[in-house]
Amino acid sequence: MRAVVYDQFTAEPEVRDVADPAPSDAGVVVRVETTGLCRSDAHGWLGHDDGIALPHVPGHELVGRIHAVGPAVERFRVGDRVTVPFVCACGRCAQCLAGNGQVCPNQTQPGFTHWGSYAELVALHDADVNLIPVPESLDAGAAALLGCRFATAFRGLVHRAGLRSGERLLVVGCGGVGLSAAMIGVALGAEVIAVDIDASALARAASIGVTYTIDSSGLDEAAVLARIAEAAPAGVQVSVEALGRESTMRLSLLALAPMGRQVQIGLFSSEPTLPLPRIISQELSLHGSHGMPASDYSELLDLVASGALRPQDLIEHRIGLDEAPAALVALASGDRSTGVTVIDVA
Ligand SMILES: [Zn+2]
Ligand SMILES: [Zn+2]
Repeated sequence: MRAVVYDQFTAEPEVRDVADPAPSDAGVVVRVETTGLCRSDAHGWLGHDDGIALPHVPGHELVGRIHAVGPAVERFRVGDRVTVPFVCACGRCAQCLAGNGQVCPNQTQPGFTHWGSYAELVALHDADVNLIPVPESLDAGAAALLGCRFATAFRGLVHRAGLRSGERLLVVGCGGVGLSAAMIGVALGAEVIAVDIDASALARAASIGVTYTIDSSGLDEAAVLARIAEAAPAGVQVSVEALGRESTMRLSLLALAPMGRQVQIGLFSSEPTLPLPRIISQELSLHGSHGMPASDYSELLDLVASGALRPQDLIEHRIGLDEAPAALVALASGDRSTGVTVIDVA
């Protein structure tokens, strides 16, 4: 098969022929239709993930058709169109049995614990636990984005922070996952305020129904907080930090009204300092979100099927596998100007 491979962290990835994967006993191999180019692929390539063994093939948000099935798989057949959460659970441990496969200690992650979906074929483990059937009518790009960005944002907002219709939602950082959170907030009836330093990212936010956009370039923290307070005189109930920077995490927490809930989605490569006195005195809560187990996807799929949520509207570029190495390097260099990119493999 053809795949995007890197031999060293930060060394130029290249498209080359490699051996086809075989399905594990309870796993499948999927022929990839489309896979998303996600910021965590860039973190992996930069060497921020110690689970990655070299050489490596990135890619963890995908849709495709089953190409081969392991002997222990019961619920799926060759030809089925499926997606998968980027955290694949074991289905047997205490966390999995409690419905929390997204924090399974035995988890596998395509594109991290083994080769991923920037490839014609990808192996996925524990298929009966993790595969999610995808309707034929759903756009391949939209389906791919459900594997990571939309699932992480949906679980964070709905299952962790309990966002309700009519609440004010602040989104700090309008990259792919931030815009996914904003789009879900709009679909759920929240009034969404978005902050970024990039005018094109804010224009995208406005185009998907965000009520207030705030360009924070050149503004200090107090000035940005004042702008947020103007946009939300009754306060912000839920905030999302989608960049993974100490300054924006702090801004996101300080903008919250008393009893506010923060969803932390941006990834950190070092440990940030928190404004803990404020968290205590205002009884703020801080929620991590690490994807969503396959068993919880029906609500998200219903929202997409109803037309209220259109992940495909976030896609700005559809590229081929040959263009993926350069796109991954550009993303890792901090280029946020290009919007969401998906790779159409088949
Ligand atoms: Zn488990
Ligand atoms: Zn991702």
